[in-house]
Formats: sequence, structure tokens, C-alpha cells
Amino acid sequence: MTDAPRFADIAEPKPTKAGLVQSYAAIGAALDSGQRATALAEWDRLRRQYDTWSALVHLRFAQDTTDPTARADRDYADALSPEAADLEIALKRRLLADPDRTGIAAAVGSHALALWATDVTTFDPAIKPDLEEESQLSARYTELLASAKLQIAGQTVNLAGLGPYAEHPDRSIRHEAERVRWGFFAANAQALDDLYDQLVKLRHRMALKLGLESYTTLAYRRLRRVDYGPEDVVRYRDQVACHVVPLVGRLLQARRAENGWDRLHFWDEALIDPAGNPKPAGDHDVLVAAAQAMFDGMDPRLAAFYRLMSQGGFMDLKNRPGKAGGGFCTSFPTAGVPFIFANFNGTHHDIGVFTHEMGHAFQNWESRELPGVDYLWPTMEAAEINSMGLEFLSYPGIGQLVGQASADRFRRMHLIGALAFLPYGVCVDHFQHEVFANPEASPADRHAMWSRLEKLYMPWTDYGDLDYLTKGGRWQAKPHIYGSPFYYIDYTLAQCCAMQFWVKSRQDYSAAMEAYVGLCARGGSASFQDLVRSAGLVSPFTDGALRDVVREAEAVLGV
Ligand SMILES: [Zn+2]
Repeated sequence: MTDAPRFADIAEPKPTKAGLVQSYAAIGAALDSGQRATALAEWDRLRRQYDTWSALVHLRFAQDTTDPTARADRDYADALSPEAADLEIALKRRLLADPDRTGIAAAVGSHALALWATDVTTFDPAIKPDLEEESQLSARYTELLASAKLQIAGQTVNLAGLGPYAEHPDRSIRHEAERVRWGFFAANAQALDDLYDQLVKLRHRMALKLGLESYTTLAYRRLRRVDYGPEDVVRYRDQVACHVVPLVGRLLQARRAENGWDRLHFWDEALIDPAGNPKPAGDHDVLVAAAQAMFDGMDPRLAAFYRLMSQGGFMDLKNRPGKAGGGFCTSFPTAGVPFIFANFNGTHHDIGVFTHEMGHAFQNWESRELPGVDYLWPTMEAAEINSMGLEFLSYPGIGQLVGQASADRFRRMHLIGALAFLPYGVCVDHFQHEVFANPEASPADRHAMWSRLEKLYMPWTDYGDLDYLTKGGRWQAKPHIYGSPFYYIDYTLAQCCAMQFWVKSRQDYSAAMEAYVGLCARGGSASFQDLVRSAGLVSPFTDGALRDVVREAEAVLGV
């Protein structure tokens, strides 16, 4: 590549329904006349163009949820998306039905065929209006959370801006941060319950229209889980309960004792290091520069890629009013370079952006030459290995971002955080399985479900005077439950694999890094468990997959 790509140059024409119909008709005509290679190439080009446009529209809305033009464009994209899906699914059905299955597989790869065979069961024109409504409801949740204007310590902040207070070394400030946070959720309880109730019933209805018994089945297929099912996930959650829950309980007990507290309250859980969680070595500009030095020390491919991203403007990391919460990586398949989005708040979470979202971005970049748009991203649980794996592989150089004096404390905090995340993550997953097994449950029933599961996976939780949490409201702060149902287990499955990279990197760093880069380059060309095994890792569904990483963590943490 001679000219370095710039984000500002990325643009694709706004597609229309009529234009898409025409393009798909031309692809169909090419297939009719036996020009399969031309048809497939043209389809791939069309999908890359459409995906790039859609990613830009959604990114611009996230960058400013109060901009009426961005909102109108997103609404337009949400309305067009089911029409595009309709055309795409029809073409996948046609190709899957082709008598020359071997020839099709040779052209697009057999894994793409397995993905399409799943995709075609998730769509029918009858659910088009439902899909549009689903996008709109989930956009309303994003807007509601982005609208939060919270008062703390004489400042007005949004939910991301509460972060530094929520892990402040001063216990009363942490308590106040949680009181303010959950006060916002309590004030919006009715809207949050209504939105979710509508989403659950809508999703269940879609599943029935597609001839499936429940939304759970549909969700697994939408997530393109071709090599495991809910029963495997149940076994994995049990492994977390068996191996990780007792360890996290011991770590929290140790923290209580170390701080001299009689009880460990919910607002104490975010203060992992008694001396105060290590903070980034500086603000946005300092971190952007320091990250280059860190990646330079890790791997030349990673270093060159980060330089390209930061110089090309492919990052938006500062928190500001009206910006959607959270962090993500999105991609523009016509350009090849992805984009990372975050909300820096001066805590160690900022460091997570460079390691987590950069892992996603690096994978997408390494996979850019793979044939076919289906392989540019793996399924999400595999994609999270790329991101979480890089968090662990950044350990040796993390002093660049956090200051050399705090590097050990940062690594310890990150490892404890990774372990403590697992029980919460599987709880979010278990909750959603129960919600969709009982779609007629009332909002109050759902709060009771959450409370019951929370006691199973996080028996230590003590909400004190935070009534909204005591009554089972914690799940409403988790955007994935509203916008990306059943996605959450993916983080926990990936964490199990990422921690295996950590164990390997302690034995032989360059071998672990090589296996990691190899996995990134395979992108989405295989199913989750095949990708895991290809990197020399043990599938999380194998008995004992967690036992070994937990043993290593116990030894390192000395508990
Ligand atoms: Zn991620």
C-alpha cells in the first residue's frame, strides 16, 4: 500500500432498496448464465460496500447520539437492513441449493457454507418489520443511557464519567458513585422495564414466526454458533461455578481483611488494589503515544498496524457529552483498516482500550486478505480471544501505559479483574437463558430471576443501602442484554482461552505471540472450537479447561 489510508477519506454511497434489488438481480442473472465467479466477486464487492456504509452510519450515531442527521441516517439504515438481509438470504439459499455444492465450496470455502446454512434459518420476510422495531428499541436504550446527566463531587458527568469515582480510593466517594449510578436506573425503571419487556416479546415472536420453539435457538443461530449449543454452555457455566467462584470469594475475603473492613460492600469490589487501582500514565495524548512504544516492543506487525491507525485517524477515544457509552471496534471492508471507539475516563479502563480493542482491530487487519467478507471477522466468542488475548500478551510492556513503578500492581489487578469477571459473565448468560425460556414473565419476575442467579454465582455480593440492586436491577446496566442478546457468554469463553495465552506467554513469550498472530490471521475462516484448537489452546467446553488456568492464577496471586 503506497498511500496510507485515512479515516476521513472513507465514504460509500447511500444504498437504496431499489438499487440493492437491481444489484442482486444482476448477480442472479450472472449465475443464470453460468458466470459463477463473476457473480460471487460482484456479490462480495456489494457486501463490502454495504457493510462499510452501515458501519459508518452506526459509528457516527455513536459519536454523537444527539445529532439529528446521524439519528436520521441510523433510522434509515435500520429500515434498510432487513431489506438487504432479505436479498442476501435469498442468494445464500440459492447457492446452498446449487447441485454443484463442491464447486461452490471450492469458491467460497466450506465454512462459509456452514455459516450460510445457519443464516438462512434466521430470516424470513415475515419478520422484516420486527427486525426494524428491534433496532429501534435497542437504539432507544442507547439514547436513554447516553442521556444520563449525573451530579457527583460538584461535577456533571455521564455514566462513563462516573468511572473514576466508582473506583476511587476513598470509600465514601465510591459509595456515592454507586448511589448516583443506581439512582439514575431507579428513576428510569419504568422505561427500562418496558423496553426490555417489548424486546423479549418481540424476539420470542420472531422465533415463533421462523418455526423455532424459542428465541434462544434463534439467538444461537444469529450468532452463527455452528459447533456448540446451550447444553455445552451449561457445562461451561458449571465449570465457572466449580473452579472460579470459590477463588474469587477467597480473593474478596483477602481484600476485606487487607483493608480492615468488617464487610465488603458492592462499592468496594471495584477497588482491586488497596493502594488505589493503578491509573494510566497520562491523559489521552500521552496514552496514544505510549501505546506506540508498547506495541513497538511486542511485535513489528502490531507496531506497524498501530502506527497506521493512529496516523490515519481511525480512533475516537475521548469521552464527551452525548457520545454513546462503551468501547468497540468496527470495520470498513472496502478500506481494510478498522476503527476503535472508546470513552477515556482516566482509569485503568483506558489502558484496556489499547489492548482489547486493538486486539480486535489487529485481527481484522490481519484477516483483510482472506477470501470473502464472511471471514473478515470470526464469530464473537472467537473474536474476543483476539482482544482479550492481547490484554494478557501486553503484560510485559504494560509499564509504558501505566508507569514502570505500577506495572506489577497493574498486572495483578488485571488478572484479578479477569477472574472476577467470569462469575458475573456467566450470570448474565444464565439470566438470558431463563428470560427467553419464560417469555411471558413479568418485569418483576425477571428481577427476581436475576437476584436468584446472582446468589448462585456471586454469593459475596452485599448491596448495602443500594435498594435498586437489592431488588434485582443490576442487569439493566448491561447494554448487551438489550442490544446483543446471548452475546455475553462469548467474553467468558474467550477469557478462558485468553488466559491460556497468558500461561503460554509465561513459558515462551515469542511462541505465544506467534500463535496469537497466526490465530488473528485465520480470522473467521473456521468455527470457534476449530480456531481455538488451531492456536494450540484447549476448548472451554473441555473438562478441566478452566482448572489449569485457575491453578496458575492461584500460584501467581498467592491465594
Ligand atoms: Zn471485545
